[in-house]
Amino acid sequence: MSQPLSHPALSAADPELAALVGAEEQLQADTLRLIPSENYVSAAVLEATGTVLQNKYSEGYAGRRYYEGQQNIDQVETLAVERAKAVFGVEHANVQPYSGSPANLAAYLAFAEPGDTVLGMALPMGGHLTHGWGVSATGTWFRGVQYGVRPDSALIDFDEVRDLARKERPKIIFCGGTAVPRTIDFAAFGEIAREVDAVLVADIAHIAGLIAGGAHPSPVPHADVISTTTHKTLRGPRGAMLMSRASHAKAVDKAVFPGLQGGPHNHTTAAIAVALREAAAPSFRDYAHAVVANAKALAEALLARGYDLVSGGTDNHLVLIDLTSKEVPGKVAAKALDRAGIVVNYNTVPFDPRKPFDPSGIRIGTPSLTSRGLGTDRMPLVAEWIDRGVQAAAKGDEDALTVIRGEVAELMAAYPAPGLPTA
Ligand SMILES: *Cc1c(COP(=O)(O)O)cnc(C)c1O
Repeated sequence: MSQPLSHPALSAADPELAALVGAEEQLQADTLRLIPSENYVSAAVLEATGTVLQNKYSEGYAGRRYYEGQQNIDQVETLAVERAKAVFGVEHANVQPYSGSPANLAAYLAFAEPGDTVLGMALPMGGHLTHGWGVSATGTWFRGVQYGVRPDSALIDFDEVRDLARKERPKIIFCGGTAVPRTIDFAAFGEIAREVDAVLVADIAHIAGLIAGGAHPSPVPHADVISTTTHKTLRGPRGAMLMSRASHAKAVDKAVFPGLQGGPHNHTTAAIAVALREAAAPSFRDYAHAVVANAKALAEALLARGYDLVSGGTDNHLVLIDLTSKEVPGKVAAKALDRAGIVVNYNTVPFDPRKPFDPSGIRIGTPSLTSRGLGTDRMPLVAEWIDRGVQAAAKGDEDALTVIRGEVAELMAAYPAPGLPTA
C-alpha cells in the first residue's frame, strides 16, 4: 500500500493517522473523481492551509479586532478581501464564513427574522438544503417556500418563481443550486426580486470558479448578495465568502461576526487569498472554459451511448444522469462505479419517483479531472467507463469493475494531480 511520503512530522507523531492521509492521497491519485463539488487544490493552497496562521485568534475585521498581534493577519485578510473584490467585481467581500452553509445562514441573519418567508429552489429539484428545505434549520426557523423546474425541459420555471414571489412576498430569494446543469439566469431572478422587494442571494458555490474564469455569467449586478464556497470550482480551501454591494456591507459583516461566528480561520483565509490569486491568472480562464468544454463533451458522449441527461445536457461543469431507462438505481450505480475507481454521487433527479436515499440518478462533474489536465479528447473514454460500470452494476459483474479500475488507475497515472505527491 501507499507510503506517506510527504508528512515526516505527522508520520513520526501519529503513524496511524499519517497512514490514513497517505491512503487518501493514493485514492485521490488513482481514481477518476467526478463529484462536481470536489476538486484538487494546488500545492500552494494546500501549504497555506498548513501554516501557523492557524495559531492566531482574530475576532473582528482588519483594523477592528478584539485581539492584539494582528500585524500580519490583518494584511492576510485584506489581501483575500481585495482579491475577492477584484476577481468577482464586487464592492464588498467577507471572507470569514466557515463554509457555505454558515455563509447562507449569515445571509438569513442579515436580512430576515425567524418565521419570515424565504423562497428557494427545492432540494430534489437541484437546490441546496440551506435554501429553506425542511430538514435544514433554514426551513424550520424560516418559512421556506420552494420553486422547481419545468417537467418538460427541467429548466427553472420562472413563471412559478414569479407567481410564488408575488403571492408569498419573501424577504429573501435564493438562486443557485447543487444539481443545476444549466446557466442560471441571474437577471431574471433580479427582476423578480426587485418587483417584490426581496433580497436576492445568488449562491454560486458550485460555479464560482466558472464565473471567476468567465465561463458562466456573473450575478453582478443582479444579486444583492453573493454567497459562495471557496472549495468547489474556485479551487481554494474549504471555506466560503459573502459578497455584496457596499450598501449591504454592514449587515453582512455584522451577521457573520458577531452574529454567527467567533474567530475567523486565518489559515483558511490565507489559502483563499492564494486561490483568488490563482483565479485571477489567465491560466484560470483556460481552466474554467476547459471544465465546461469537458462537461459538454462528456454529456455528448453519454447521450451517444443512450443515457438520459436531465435537461438534455449541460452548460456548466455538471451533468445529471437519469438512470431510470438503464434499470439501475443511482445508488447501486454509484457504489459500483466507486469499486471501478470512478467516484460519483447518487442524486435525485427532478420529479424522482424514488426516495432521496435511493434515487434514480447520479451526478457527475468535470472540475477535478480538468485540474489534472484531461481534455475533451478523453471524455469519450470516461463515458465508456461510466457505461461499462453501469452495465456491470446491472449485471453484478464485479470482474468487469475490477478491470475498469485498473484502466482508470493507468490513465490517471499519466495526469498527476495538483497538490499530491508524485513519487
Ligand atoms: C456546497 C454548497 C453549499 C454548502 O457548502 P458547505 O461548505 O458544504 O456547507 C451551499 N450552497 C450550495 C449551492 C452548494 O453547492
